[in-house]
Amino acid sequence: MIEPTGQHLIDGDWVSSDAKFTSTPLTGPGVEVSEGTAAEVDRAAKAAEACFASVSAMPVERHAALLRRIAAHIDDQGDAITAYGVAETGLPNARLVAERGRTVGQLRLFADYIESGDQLDQRHDPAQPDRSPVPAPDLRLVQRPIGPVAVFGASNFPLAFSTAGGDTASALAAGCPVIVKGHPAHPATGEIVARAIASAVSDEGYPAAMFQLVQGSTHDLGRALVEHPLISAVGFTGSLGAGRALFDLCARRPVPIPFFGELGSINPVFVLPHALAARGAELAKAWAASLTMGAGQFCTNPGLIVLPKGPEGDAFLDVAVAALQEVAAQPMLTTGIADDFINKTQQIAKMSTLAFQGQTKDRDVTPFISCVSASEFSANPALRHEVFGPFGLVVRTPDPESTLSLAKELDGQLTCTLQVDEGDAPEARQLLAILERKAGRILANGFPTGVEVASAMVHGGPYPASTNFGHTSVGTMAIRRWMRPVSYLDLPDYLVA
Ligand code: NAP
Repeated sequence: MIEPTGQHLIDGDWVSSDAKFTSTPLTGPGVEVSEGTAAEVDRAAKAAEACFASVSAMPVERHAALLRRIAAHIDDQGDAITAYGVAETGLPNARLVAERGRTVGQLRLFADYIESGDQLDQRHDPAQPDRSPVPAPDLRLVQRPIGPVAVFGASNFPLAFSTAGGDTASALAAGCPVIVKGHPAHPATGEIVARAIASAVSDEGYPAAMFQLVQGSTHDLGRALVEHPLISAVGFTGSLGAGRALFDLCARRPVPIPFFGELGSINPVFVLPHALAARGAELAKAWAASLTMGAGQFCTNPGLIVLPKGPEGDAFLDVAVAALQEVAAQPMLTTGIADDFINKTQQIAKMSTLAFQGQTKDRDVTPFISCVSASEFSANPALRHEVFGPFGLVVRTPDPESTLSLAKELDGQLTCTLQVDEGDAPEARQLLAILERKAGRILANGFPTGVEVASAMVHGGPYPASTNFGHTSVGTMAIRRWMRPVSYLDLPDYLVA
């Protein structure tokens, strides 16, 4: 099995820094990892820019071959990736095997997609020399890659949203060199994946700087990356606080750049009265299962449920709590994330009526459920913030009007869900009209954990769910973040690509 070295990958060389940090896996020894600085970022950004002209001129078939080769090398390293991933994150083996499948699936999906040419969105308005009163020029529009892209690995998806995750796959598919800032919670996993990518870059005859990795555990590294003048755009998944800080840095640069951040969401679920009456117990069990999947460490965790007041709503809550009592403590991704969960749930406990709280110990946590009335929710904006982990807030609404009012007060979300039967249609239609302004994705009679990687998927939404409502970080449309339209006027045939 490959042994991680804790080094950066810069312009094809594996290099160390003087300063180091030691990783803190859930099990097994930590790895000594080089602390990247502005000097490593500068070298990587210059190398990425130096190769941009050649890679952006390559035919899409070459990018497709690179993506498929990366997927094949990741498959070859599957056992090592899973072993380091399980040790570092505490996520179960089966989850990481499935996440690896999704990761290579995304790479292959982008390979197929770019071969279709759809991402180029080519448009042609032929010249009209005889148009009166003025002739029209010949116009050709095409989407072109934007330049070197910085990607921040996410703690909660060490594979599918990290080193070779969706941001990296879509940027490489666009023809952009990528510099990944590895997440300090899983440096060994990240390095093994980076080695697979580097082999593919070499096999396919790409410049070595098409993919680079910098590691570190200080905010200075992330800041240096987004502030570097040769970086053209940033992909990020993580907390609202960090995402907002980096977004503001991007906006304050002498030349501002787009920051595509996927930040916080509480993913409200609306249980409508007919659905509640028909299958309340079934829905309660399904909500409890969704809430605790992966210790609730999903950006799409259904952390807010809106439930009608009355005996059927009470019975729903009883069934959900009974199901949650059966859930064993699960390790969180890092000690910091576990501490954050405990602190935030303690704060929520002071503002709400506790429905269920289990035991927590070290990195292991159990679910936490609390209840408030619609008016309490409305009066307390602190209840609208994401609590990352197996946390659910239940809001009891006395009538459909207060459910609609609550929906109007919500911040931007990645997802909103309706549990609905045909008899709920009038209320559901009114809710839909409100929720489609709130979320990137609306589900009916499902739960939001788990996302289909496909062409019609949106994984984004109004702020604070994301920093740019026009984008998705999952699915083929994700490539749009790394391309921009250029219109060519009266370009002679001998220059048309
Ligand atoms: P994070 O704190 O947002 O960090 C994400 C990345 O940004 C890391 O590479 C981090 O590296 C860097 N970073 C953080 N603050 C920064 C700053 N001020 N300036 C520059 N870079 C900065 O996320 P996390 O480490 O994954 O977990 C912490 C919290 O994030 C969790 O408690 C959870 O609430 C949230 N989270 C949310 C989602 C979601 O999908 N909504 C996903 C994962 C995590 P350094 O620490 O090395 O600077």
